[in-house]
Amino acid sequence: MKKLAIILTILFLLLVAIYFLIFKPEKYQEKDLYDSILERGVIKVGINTDSKPFGFFDEKWQIKGYDADLARYIAQYILKSPNAVEFHPVTPANRMLKVSTGEVDIVIATMTITPQRKEIIDFSIPYDAAGQALLVRSNSKIKSLADLNGLNVGVVFGTTAEKNMLNLVPTANIIGFRNYRVAYQALKNGKIDALTSDDTILSRFVYEDKSVKLLPKRYTHEPYGVALRKDKSTKRLKENIDFAIKDMHKKNVILRLRRKWLYS
Ligand code: GLU
Repeated sequence: MKKLAIILTILFLLLVAIYFLIFKPEKYQEKDLYDSILERGVIKVGINTDSKPFGFFDEKWQIKGYDADLARYIAQYILKSPNAVEFHPVTPANRMLKVSTGEVDIVIATMTITPQRKEIIDFSIPYDAAGQALLVRSNSKIKSLADLNGLNVGVVFGTTAEKNMLNLVPTANIIGFRNYRVAYQALKNGKIDALTSDDTILSRFVYEDKSVKLLPKRYTHEPYGVALRKDKSTKRLKENIDFAIKDMHKKNVILRLRRKWLYS
């Protein structure tokens, strides 16, 4: 009798668990993120801090750049104030996790929309785009990817370039770095022969330092999107961000951001 009672209790608990898992009754459903942001009065944005001119610390330790301005525009659109943003530093390697776990509401970090990433997270419509390029020392003989066989090529962990390189030149010796600063140092001191990533990010080094050059060829098309958690609760937020981006294209805000920040 006692055994039967235990079995029935376990069965009951199991059924309750299955019910909650499958049907998610209304009041236990994840709260709509857009509503939470409105209530909180601030949007938490994951941003690169090592990626001038998109996201970086200025001399006063303020986060600046194209992506920071974009975040402020979105905050203005949603919360009616460009200052209603809380920036959280992310890296290319941890940004998917930070947005999936809800540590940040969105990530704006030169992040390419790819089918593989879309399996795990959601993206807004593109706000800009780049192409994968090669940065080499000015006196280098390297002209294109074809010259990289057996050479050391630097990538930043978690970037599309890291993944692409494995397919584009499997015979190169690919070396991963935590961020662009250390990868760039490795190029300067000869530890790597080339550094590959988005042209928009690498251009900054050429602008600041004539001992390196960006090769003219582009190997990919990298549309940039605002990343969101893939969940029903982010649907309204995504719609609003898409709308804000469309508005920015229409009113030439994107064009102005490009002129303000990009080295071209
Ligand atoms: N657009 C590339 C990517 O999404 C590079 C971004 C970055 O280095 O932050 O992986």
